[in-house]
Amino acid sequence: MRCPYCGSLDTQVKDSRPTDDYASIRRRRVCPDCGGRFTTFERVQLRELLVVKKSGRRVPFEREKLMRSLEIALRKRAVDPERVERMVNGVVRQLESQGDNEVTTDRVGELVMEGLRSLDSVAYVRFASVYRNFREAADFGTIIDELVGEPEKLQDVPPHEKPTKPVSGEA
Ligand SMILES: [Zn+2]
Repeated sequence: MRCPYCGSLDTQVKDSRPTDDYASIRRRRVCPDCGGRFTTFERVQLRELLVVKKSGRRVPFEREKLMRSLEIALRKRAVDPERVERMVNGVVRQLESQGDNEVTTDRVGELVMEGLRSLDSVAYVRFASVYRNFREAADFGTIIDELVGEPEKLQDVPPHEKPTKPVSGEA
């Protein structure tokens, strides 16, 4: 596995254990060249999924792509990577267990938003702001209403990030 920091191919596994749900193996790796540490996951893939885009174009579902958009949404949020992994496992499992190999981008977005909602409210708003594109200001109000309905989820949100008033930097 190539080191994400320096590109070295000579990384070593330091620790390997299943995640809590036994759906993945989590490996902690270290790069002897730069000292960089990172984590990889090994998991089952039940079937190949195709994502149907709004344009009608079909592209293979890429878990890594989804993870990258989640990393952006979760930037600087103290969320255990294993919880993110489990959430994504759940989303993928739901997509894989429906009758069709084809899934719409909307369906993927909805499932991710459902999962993020219980994971981290700030990341939820960030993801939603990109996913829903905030074409109308009303969208933001809708999301805030959804969140305000669950005040316990907002308690650990720093006041400056608490989405109770329009946040100009997010949209
Ligand atoms: Zn390295």
